[in-house]
This record gives sequence, structure tokens and C-alpha cells, in this order.
Amino acid sequence: MRRIQKRALAVALLVAAVLAMTALYAARWAVHGGEWAGFPSNGDAFIAGRIRAGTVRDRDGEVLYAVRDGEGRYAQDESVRRASLHIIGDRAGFIGSGALFHYAGTILGYDPVNGLYSADGTGGVLTLSVDAGAQRAAWEALDGRNGAVAVINYVTGEVVCSVSSPAFDPEDPPETAPDDTSGIYMNRPLSAVYTPGSVFKLVTLAAAIENIEDVFDRDFHCSGSMEVGGGRVTCTHAHGDMKLEDALALSCNCTFGQLALELGGETLQKYADQYGLTQRQSVDGLHTAVGRFDAGAEGSLNLAWSGAGQYHDLVNPMAMARFVAAIANSGDAPDLTMVKKTALLGLSGEHIMNAATADKIAQIMDYAVRRTYGPENFPGLALRAKSGTAEVGTDKPNAWFVGFIQDPEHPYAFAVCVENAGFGFSQAAPVANAVLQAAVR
Ligand SMILES: [Zn+2]
Repeated sequence: MRRIQKRALAVALLVAAVLAMTALYAARWAVHGGEWAGFPSNGDAFIAGRIRAGTVRDRDGEVLYAVRDGEGRYAQDESVRRASLHIIGDRAGFIGSGALFHYAGTILGYDPVNGLYSADGTGGVLTLSVDAGAQRAAWEALDGRNGAVAVINYVTGEVVCSVSSPAFDPEDPPETAPDDTSGIYMNRPLSAVYTPGSVFKLVTLAAAIENIEDVFDRDFHCSGSMEVGGGRVTCTHAHGDMKLEDALALSCNCTFGQLALELGGETLQKYADQYGLTQRQSVDGLHTAVGRFDAGAEGSLNLAWSGAGQYHDLVNPMAMARFVAAIANSGDAPDLTMVKKTALLGLSGEHIMNAATADKIAQIMDYAVRRTYGPENFPGLALRAKSGTAEVGTDKPNAWFVGFIQDPEHPYAFAVCVENAGFGFSQAAPVANAVLQAAVR
């Protein structure tokens, strides 16, 4: 009798295990079926590595890629084609982050009931969150210079613009994959890291607001340079006496170096981590490159410079845009997506910054635009911004401009980095203006 009971129990367990595995498979199939079906080696999905059917559109319906009669074609406008190369992908498949691979299931029209079958054979439609007009404007404003442009909607997390330069015309690709010293296949907004220079002062500013009680009452003084640990922190010229707001608007290295020394490396590290700048960020499961903060010893010249975005600091442009989005959005960083949202339900994100701190920084960035950058250079945009001129050894500096527009209709945060271009305000700010003007049009 006992033996029969044992056997019955064993059978029951076996049945339960089979049911559990079936349920697990069904769940995985529902979630990942599109990915499995859209795998490049699936002959029903791809022919010689090229997607068999489907259309990719921008947020307003402009075609970015469409397969008709077995032939895939990119956007008609050449600037849009080049600007969108890295987010769509190339025919040879060297750009793995492209939508043609990452969202193949949706483009093919996959659904869990019908699989890849579509009655007329045209496949599905993927509507990206990017704006083709903003893509074009970014590409044209970069004007042949290398760099990255990222614009995100700070409420929904939709990526409105993501441009990487250099690029090529996907309708006329290079003959063979070069050894890639040009970085032409690299999707910079997602995969690059750059020395941030003064845009990192926003992190030091947040740490100072939260850790130095009287920081807004203090008088700072800049004589043009400051001796630290046998070396010097320098400014372009003597900024004289100033309050904290002025120190950000004037981007005074001496003041921010001093704040970094006072805050200490551990505190700055904590803020860089908390704001996601040293972590990989996800865009629909694609990950950004990981940034770096490396404070240097307490009281050292390296620590002073690290608080001003130099030394070993590195940031990824998309992660930087997400950080600025949190400033714009009272501390909430939205989850990033490349796919257009059809409803505002189910928005998700992460609260990474104290709301009062975020609002205060937003005010100071507004002051920086009025005092230093000039609202007249950004007509019609309620811009809050910070520039950066990041020294990168012997080359010309990387030019940065980051910020957001205070506009409920167009809640856009951005990060622009133009490599080896010169001053942030003169080189990167016009790119940001061109993109934002196109995005709000
Ligand atoms: Zn100064």
C-alpha cells in the first residue's frame, strides 16, 4: 500500500512538473515569440540576412524603411537616411542595435496567434518614437563632425531623436566592413562614453545643494586659478566674486573644484551612481555604455578636477539625457523607449533625485541661459541648459550642451556632444537649438 501511495505521489509530481514547464514555455513564447520568430537565421523572417517584410515609420508616419516586393528601401531623404542609420540598422547587419534586428518581430507583423503570417504579405508596422525632422536637423547641424545627439521626452521616456555621426548612406553602404577605426558602425548615443567636462557640474551642484547647508548664502571667489595639492585648477579668466548660481552660469572650475574637495570623493561617487551615470541604462533592453567616476584621493588635484567633469570622468550621452530628464521632471527619470507610446497609461520610471533639488537645479539652469547663453539664441524655447567644454588631451575639446525645455506640449530633454569641436556653447548649443526647433515644429 505504501508503495502505491509513493508511486501515485511520484506520478502526480511528474504531471505537475510537465504542466509547470508547459506554462513556463507558453509564457516565454508569449513574451519572446516575436524575438524567436524574428531571429536572422529564421528563413521565414529573413532572406540572406535581410528582413522579409514590414515597415518602419517615424512618430508621424514618415517611412524610414519599408519592404515592398521583397526589396527593402530606406527613407527617401538622404539626410534622414544617414541620420537614422544607427537606429534602423544597415543591410549587412553590422549595426546590431538597429530596429531591423531588435524589433524584427514587430516589423514582420508577428503575433502569438498567427505567428509571422500576414494575409497580404506586407508584414507589420513598427512606429518608432523618433521624429524624422529632428533626425534630419541634427544630422545637418552636426555638418560632418563626429558626435552624438539624444533628445528624449522627459515625461514618456520616448526617444525623439538619436543621431550618431559619422554615418553612411545605407542605400550606398561602404563596400566591406572596414576595420572600424572610424567608428562608423558605432551607435554613439547608446554605445559611446565621453569626458563630460562642465556638464558634470550639475552632479556636483546637486551634491552641494544637499550636503552643504549654507551653500546658497556663501560667497565664492575666483582669481582665475586655485592651488591644490601641488597643481592648479584653472578657469579661462578670473570670475571674481559670485554666488552658487553664478558659479554654474559662469562654469567656474575653481568654485566647483573647491566644492568637490569639500564634498569628498565618496559623496560625489554616490551621486554619480544614484543619477545612473555610472550604470548601464536600458532602451527597450538595449544597454547604454557604462560611464565612470573616479574621484582621486581626498584633497587632491584629481578630486578637484573630477568634480568639474575632468580627470577620469566619462559619461554616455543617452544616460546624460536621462539624468537631465530627471532634473526636468522633479527627480523622475522615465524608462527609455524607441517605440512610440500610444497611451500615457503605464508610464514607468525611477525616482533618482530629490524633487526639491531637481527644481532648484532647473531654476539655476534657467538662470544660466539668461545670464550666459542668451534666450535670443533659442527663439521660442523655454530653455534650461548647461554647456561643457571637455579637455581630451591634445585634440580640440569635446563640445557639450545639455538641458531641457520647460514646455508641457514638448517636454524634451537633450544631450549633444560634438567631438573635438571646441567650446560647448559655440559648437554644441547651435546643434541643440536646430534639433529642438525641428522637434517642436
Ligand atoms: Zn572661475
